[in-house]
Amino acid sequence: MTAQLIDGKSIAATLDEKVAEETANFKKRVGRAPGLAAVLVGADPASEIYVRNKVRRTQKAGLESFEHRLSAETEEAELLALVDRLNKDEAVDGILVQLPLPSQIDSARVLNAISPEKDVDGFHPVNAGRLATGLQALVPCTPLGCLIMAERQFEKIDGVESVVVGRSNIVGKPMVQLLISRRATVTVVHSATADISAHTRRADLLVVAAGRPKLIGGDQIKPGGVVIDVGINRLDNGKIVGDVAFDEAKEVARAITPVPGGVGPMTIACLLVNTLTAACRRKGLADPACTPRIIATR
Ligand code: NAD
Repeated sequence: MTAQLIDGKSIAATLDEKVAEETANFKKRVGRAPGLAAVLVGADPASEIYVRNKVRRTQKAGLESFEHRLSAETEEAELLALVDRLNKDEAVDGILVQLPLPSQIDSARVLNAISPEKDVDGFHPVNAGRLATGLQALVPCTPLGCLIMAERQFEKIDGVESVVVGRSNIVGKPMVQLLISRRATVTVVHSATADISAHTRRADLLVVAAGRPKLIGGDQIKPGGVVIDVGINRLDNGKIVGDVAFDEAKEVARAITPVPGGVGPMTIACLLVNTLTAACRRKGLADPACTPRIIATR
């Protein structure tokens, strides 16, 4: 069996178009475009590429992009002062501080300083808590993108046997929360799990976010399962691969995301959705139609 490729690029392009349409409506009503401020500290090459892509896609969708580039020697106080200015700036609806930050800066302190209503990465504890308790939140972009792709693979995600590999605050934990909010049956495994295969082999939906190339081989996948590979790993030969051994996995799974071209483009699409959503909420407007509804469930 050769799995269907879940084409993140094309799903993301459709989402970008919806954002562009609804951004045009927002502009008509409010008189300005939703604004996204991206802050990059230092010159990490991977971060440079991410920020460049984000700025390009933001502008293409008609959103306003504000770029702030600070030197790698920037002190924490200076970055906190910038975040404070952006929090107060009426034209800025979303603030993104690109990680990783240089070692002299406490990342948690900076992320916690972002106003929760402008926290389009969804990393602020207020948004994490709101998601966990089923309240309206801004949801981390990568797991949100994974959820959108996963939902297209199942008629109903209710009760779907799902396994998440990884328990980070950025991907694993919010992924678990999102799947629970959709009433999936969720198991989370991580570096302290004795036998991850025992769990992954029974997953109808497997989301892998560990940052370990080829962590999941074909024999660890349930035949006919859906595999979402979040990992981005650069090998010594420069090649970018995910956490799943793609060539083996595609012979076992029913559908699988490629790396690159799967989760990555969806992450940026969800950032644009979140920025538009944040802008509408700040202006007291209803959520745009492209905002996925994350429902409180029992
Ligand atoms: P992280 O390092 O914060 O967390 C990794 C998690 O994986 C941890 O919970 C750890 O327990 C688990 N893990 C590590 N080794 C394991 C093993 N051998 N077996 C089982 N579990 C193991 O990483 P993160 O921020 O969650 O990112 C994970 C991966 O996703 C990375 O490759 C990262 O680059 C990628 N990522 C991609 C996007 C995207 O847009 N596509 C966005 C964010 C992260």
